[in-house]
Amino acid sequence: MTSAPDRPQIRPAIADLPAYVPGKPPAARDGVPTYKLSSNENPFPPLAGILEAATDAAGAMNRYPDMGCTALYARLSEHLGVPVTHLAAGTGSVAVLYHLLQAFCEAGDEVVYAWRSFEAYPIAVAVTGATSVQVPLDAEARHDLGAMAAAITDRTKVVIVCTPNNPTGPAVGRTELQEFLAKVPSHVVVVVDEAYREFVRIEDPVDAVDLYRDRDNVAVMRTFAKAYGLAGFRVGYVIAPEPIASAVRACALPFGVSSVAQAAAVASLEREKELLERVETLVVERGRVVEALREQGWDVPDPQGNFVWLKLGDRTVEFAAAADEAGVMVRPFAGDGARISIGDPKGNDIFLSVAARFVR
Ligand SMILES: *Cc1c(COP(=O)(O)O)cnc(C)c1O
Repeated sequence: MTSAPDRPQIRPAIADLPAYVPGKPPAARDGVPTYKLSSNENPFPPLAGILEAATDAAGAMNRYPDMGCTALYARLSEHLGVPVTHLAAGTGSVAVLYHLLQAFCEAGDEVVYAWRSFEAYPIAVAVTGATSVQVPLDAEARHDLGAMAAAITDRTKVVIVCTPNNPTGPAVGRTELQEFLAKVPSHVVVVVDEAYREFVRIEDPVDAVDLYRDRDNVAVMRTFAKAYGLAGFRVGYVIAPEPIASAVRACALPFGVSSVAQAAAVASLEREKELLERVETLVVERGRVVEALREQGWDVPDPQGNFVWLKLGDRTVEFAAAADEAGVMVRPFAGDGARISIGDPKGNDIFLSVAARFVR
């Protein structure tokens, strides 16, 4: 008979989890303004009406939030032209992804996604006990959808497509995504993570909500964190066929999305026009930054989110330290590259001056 262990045993999948590395704030410097370009946050402060809606909701903090997110679902349903039963909200779209993977995956299952991509994916997959199958990006830092389709096996339960891809920037086109979906077996869930969709300016853009409408296996993840500027409130959602959406809701923590977040999200949808004008300002600024980088001689993958990617290899950590020294915090991925969010033009200019010193 084997003897019982002498202490609590953490599941091996959890003990081995990679840590999520949050974008750091810059070190404070006397008399030097600093800029946080490390978390793809929206640099604009909240619009007055949205702050007011959130403040009003905070007055009811002694009450649990509406667990059914009634007002938010009603508003989204109208906005997107989808049934309320096809929606599931969570504390950020990352939480929604955790719930979805929990609903579909267990030990022995596989989840296919591109790599390098969003660092939350390997963690969210590992928590379920399933195995990550990472398909390398192509030479232009794009999803290799052909290789991803070929990586699907009998064990695959979910495929994640991140478009635009965090942290490298390129977006997939509608035609190539349709061709990919045609190759994926109908029992495999395809998650299209559109966290940055409002920033996309390509010829053949994807609206994954359009693609989900006539398929039973497509789930579209969206968030209020980036374009809508609500990163601090934690609210995102999935649009998916009823069985998938209801499985996500079943796994969600009760009362996860706060009243303040729900109110701010509803108010944001009401002021979408102004918010999208701010997105356009960031897109124009992104164009200025990428043009300057390319003039410096950088080979920058096509940036379709609110960030750019510099392939710095073994100089990545040194670059991040130099940027921090200059008052700008970027997000380094040691040995690979750095992701720099598009922020206030003054911060972007400091980043550009550091980049100029590192170009080869
Ligand atoms: C920021 C981001 C999200 C959304 O995160 P929230 O949990 O909603 O803040 C989802 N996917 C990707 C790829 C992201 O970069």
